[in-house]
Amino acid sequence: VLRADKIEKHFANIEVLRGISLEAKRGDVISLIGASGSGKSTFLRCLNFLEIPTGGTVTIRGETHQASDALSRSRASKQKLRQLRREVGMVFQSFNLWPHMTAAENVMEGPVRVLKEPPKAARSRALDLLARVGLSERADYRPSQLSGGQQQRVAIARALAMNPDVLLFDEPTSALDPELVGEVLAVMTDLAKEGRTMLIVTHEIAFARDVSSKMIFLRKGLVEEEGPPRDLIASPKSEELQRFLARMR
Ligand code: ATP
Ligand code: MG
Repeated sequence: VLRADKIEKHFANIEVLRGISLEAKRGDVISLIGASGSGKSTFLRCLNFLEIPTGGTVTIRGETHQASDALSRSRASKQKLRQLRREVGMVFQSFNLWPHMTAAENVMEGPVRVLKEPPKAARSRALDLLARVGLSERADYRPSQLSGGQQQRVAIARALAMNPDVLLFDEPTSALDPELVGEVLAVMTDLAKEGRTMLIVTHEIAFARDVSSKMIFLRKGLVEEEGPPRDLIASPKSEELQRFLARMR
């Protein structure tokens, strides 16, 4: 579904990503781990061009995207970028819900504005999606009236509403109180079982081991080690991964 080829990102003179490649096939769940500052968030953001890579390409549905597309102002390029962002959905650590809208309105906003769905149909779909994340009763609550775990589940429903091919999660449970982490991980586990293609940056090593088909350890903007999560966790090859895992325990 998604291929990243030699993604690079520099900020002024700092090289944050130094050529990261990966391929996600339909139904793959890939977990990304690594120390703070290793480039995990920047890499995810490059995949949907929230951050424009300085080098490399992202291919999805047979379309290859590169920096020159994103920087060009032509109509065709803008359309292509919109398409990419629609195909690659994202869930952030800090939920990023619109505070003045209810849960249902948050979920239907993209479908109505971007996909031009009629509001009635979009609302009905939003209610279905909220039911899937266990929030039928909270459809008409605003974010401030919801717990962190509930807000994050609304954010997941909002991402699903755009029918993305790939879902990116950037530390979706890091901002949550410990007792709320489980409900969000449970929703993500369900999505993985349904065969959704997902890339997940997380510090929840046990969760990553159980749900992901592949684990990638990033270090200083490069893939240091990758493979089946159980192998990586049980027998890390590099000293850096050994040290990283030891710190997580
Ligand atoms: P964390 O686990 O703390 O979230 P991370 O692996 O997600 O870390 P990134 O947020 O991708 O790391 O940041 C990688 C590096 O890029 C950091 O050194 C950061 O300071 C730098 N960086 C990120 N965004 C910018 C920016 N807009 N301008 C300059 N430097 C940036
Ligand atoms: Mg990060």
